[in-house]
Amino acid sequence: MSVEIGREYGLFINGELAEPAGGEIRELTEPATGEPLARAAMASEADVDRAVDAARAALDGTWGKTPATERSRLLHALADAIVANRKELAELEARNVGKAISSVKAELAQAAENFRFFASAIASVGGRSNPLGGSLLFYSLREPVGVAGQIVPWNYPLMMATWKLSPALAAGCSVVLKPDPATPLTALRLAELAAEVGFPAGAINVVPGDGPTTGAYLVGHPGVDKVAFTGSTQTGRTIMRLCADGLKRLTLELGGKSPNLVFADANLADAIPSSVWSILYSAGQSCEARSRVLVERRLLDDFVNQFTELAARVKVGDPLAPETQMGSLISTAHRDKVHAFVESGRDEGAEVVLGGEAPGGDGAFYPPTVLTGVENRMVVAQEEIFGPVVTIIPFEDEADAIRIANDVKYGLMATVWTGDPARGHRLAARIKAGTVGINMPYTAFPGIPFGGYKHSGFGRELGLEALDLYLETKSVVVSTGARPINPFGL
Ligand code: NAD
Repeated sequence: MSVEIGREYGLFINGELAEPAGGEIRELTEPATGEPLARAAMASEADVDRAVDAARAALDGTWGKTPATERSRLLHALADAIVANRKELAELEARNVGKAISSVKAELAQAAENFRFFASAIASVGGRSNPLGGSLLFYSLREPVGVAGQIVPWNYPLMMATWKLSPALAAGCSVVLKPDPATPLTALRLAELAAEVGFPAGAINVVPGDGPTTGAYLVGHPGVDKVAFTGSTQTGRTIMRLCADGLKRLTLELGGKSPNLVFADANLADAIPSSVWSILYSAGQSCEARSRVLVERRLLDDFVNQFTELAARVKVGDPLAPETQMGSLISTAHRDKVHAFVESGRDEGAEVVLGGEAPGGDGAFYPPTVLTGVENRMVVAQEEIFGPVVTIIPFEDEADAIRIANDVKYGLMATVWTGDPARGHRLAARIKAGTVGINMPYTAFPGIPFGGYKHSGFGRELGLEALDLYLETKSVVVSTGARPINPFGL
């Protein structure tokens, strides 16, 4: 089946598509063309109320009684459904985000694997027991935290939805997911597929809507027990405050300004093209984009020349063309923000050696852009630009490389390119980031924990650690002593 262009998407509440209480239907356009794509319902507070009620009823009803083995089977079935519907989902995502379909296909494969990983992992989660001192028996129960309110951004709408849904559903939580209002389509389709494979009504609810209104209302909703958020650090702060009153469990996956360190002893035939990929995939709209390339000074001129030559060869264009490697940005408004960062770099004295000007036309395209002459204190080296813009900064030696790598408020990811294995491990230990790749540019794998240090957030996704964030541990203690228990001797 190919994407139904122009289709109207409802909310997804209690196992079915639902009309929005406020009647708001928004036109969505394709960022790469500016043409209409679909119409999507936007949730208001009343819709969030309905979704949270449905999620609570699911926990008190069929979903709450669904054993882990059955949840595992359903998660595997949803993974199968993603694979079976991959053509439709890939086209929908590429058109909605403006992203190259070649990238989206890889994301879809990972989306399915996320469900498979947590489907398998939940089978090995159990309590433990410990007969304390002969007169006490202790055992623990692992119980779902409850209703999870999950908020995901526009850069990876389907993959982020699967990162959030898979551990929550495996743990037995029910979910109210709020996608970004610009990119709700694949998450809604995923919820439909979940219903088709047998997830009970209310286990998964999807309520697209604006962040400061619908999103904030969901976070503060008294019926929500746990909040999981991916997006900007600024919004993360707001959400943390909103969670304080209800003392909600919270995980935050926030921004990044990740370094890519290239030492002169590295295999440059791998390091340079991989460094280009590490910033330009997804047009730089990735929290873990390696947007600060740190290069050993004696390599600098050669590196800049080769990097720039390869970046200029990246195929930018129609997201649906199979040969395209980089599509458009999410919107022309976002492109303006990206360009303003480049201008601020120019103002601070950086040199734009590639790109730096938006092309004409209706699509939100921005070219691969390389800035040199950058000092790490500059705005372009400190702030998340979230576009295809890289800053190249020289370092003198290993100590200098570590200092610059850590001299930023974020700490999500780092990649180290070196021919010296011991140096790779030394740097992995000293760089403050949730993930460090050594001669390995890829970033996120089902089963390997992913998350941030510092202002990149807290909590981990993708690994077993994520399951713990959706489970409570209850201790049950039983007296096994022969004597009656009567502390006051009454
Ligand atoms: P954002 O953080 O504002 O939005 C992310 C999600 O949070 C969306 O679903 C949005 O509707 C929701 N949201 C916004 N305000 C909210 C609030 N007060 N309460 C609850 N939910 C709220 O990000 P953005 O405006 O889409 O992008 C701005 C910048 O954030 C980007 O330029 C980029 O630097 C960064 N960003 C980072 C990531 C990431 O993966 N870390 C993703 C998207 C954006």
